Amino acid sequence: MPGFEIFGDEERKQVNDVLETGVLFRYGFDGARKGHWKAKTFEAELARRVGVEYAHLCTSGTAALSTAMAACGVGAGDEVIVPPFTFVATIESVLMAGAVPVFADIDETLCLSPEGIASALTPATKAVVPVHMCGAMARIDEIKEICDKKGLTLLEDACQSLGATYKGKALGSFGKAGCFSFDPVKTITCGEGGAMVTNDRHVYVAADAYADHGHDHLGSDRGAEDHLIIGTNHRISELNAAVGVAQLRKLDWILDVQRRNKAAIKAAMATIPGIDFRQLPDPDGDSATFLSFFMPDLETARQAVKTLAAAGVDGCFHWYDNKWHYIRKWNHFQTMQVAARLPVQTLSNCPDYGNIAMPGSDAIMQRAISMQIKLGWTPKQLEQRIQATVKALKTIV
Ligand SMILES: *Cc1c(COP(=O)(O)O)cnc(C)c1O
Repeated sequence: MPGFEIFGDEERKQVNDVLETGVLFRYGFDGARKGHWKAKTFEAELARRVGVEYAHLCTSGTAALSTAMAACGVGAGDEVIVPPFTFVATIESVLMAGAVPVFADIDETLCLSPEGIASALTPATKAVVPVHMCGAMARIDEIKEICDKKGLTLLEDACQSLGATYKGKALGSFGKAGCFSFDPVKTITCGEGGAMVTNDRHVYVAADAYADHGHDHLGSDRGAEDHLIIGTNHRISELNAAVGVAQLRKLDWILDVQRRNKAAIKAAMATIPGIDFRQLPDPDGDSATFLSFFMPDLETARQAVKTLAAAGVDGCFHWYDNKWHYIRKWNHFQTMQVAARLPVQTLSNCPDYGNIAMPGSDAIMQRAISMQIKLGWTPKQLEQRIQATVKALKTIV
């Protein structure tokens, strides 16, 4: 996840285009902007890259998820199936829509499993939000099949998986809508930003309006525009979008480097008995931002991250003990600490998140470790990392 590693002349040039016109706003000022439409350019190039009809930029991946919920009509009274292993933003966006997050089990893909979804369905289920964690895919074809069969909205959180594909089709393009994040630790970054993509014209029009106070964006006189719906402000600025334009054009190079670095480490680790790797439904489509693997149990996993860190192998995450990505450490969801803005009804419909039994997911997450793959490693640093990793892990398994 190297967005933060790559700020160069291309990004500076794009930002300078904007600074030279002084038009930081994505809409209007047609004459003054001298032909620079950074948000529109980023959207067009992103849609082409992901292979969808429409992309709409937002201020963040979280804002893109909220926009997608609104545009897909997810709201009060609905249940939305989500995984317990994700960044909390996925869950926040369901709650902010007024819907109830229903947790279902993950499998060794580290993503929501079709079996987990099947057992979490109720008559109130409206949508399913698989999260393509750590750069790679859920069993998205099977998940799509369930959604199609049951008439559920499939909304993909692909915030961590730009550039990843399943059988050649981009993650984020399978559902009614897909979301990406361009925050500083994602595959590409624009400082802060996100995008919702879709092939559905109605979803796009609703998202485009929702993220800008309902504006219809017809014609060139902003003051004369009508409001299609009640919305909010999730607009990205031209400065952020400009950085994104430059970064997206580097995506193929980013993926190449990540895949090469990851393959080298994985090949060396595969020689260690007792270590298993994350299941990848389509290994060729992995964006390779992380190398995820399983230790035999909780204790060996805890020991492994310590031993790896002591051996100078940084960037290894044991998600089970991490406060950001797994439900067991989301203390604020367990007590439902909120600012006074969530509809009371939503809260009273939520189960007690502190006491949800998810033994299947716990058993997987207790053993899982992910190593962040960087772009900036020199061949020598990569070789040292490989040797230190193998040596450290062999002392444990
Ligand atoms: C980063 C992330 C988000 C939110 O993106 P922001 O741009 O940081 O708001 C949502 N879901 C997942 C899985 C993420 O990793």
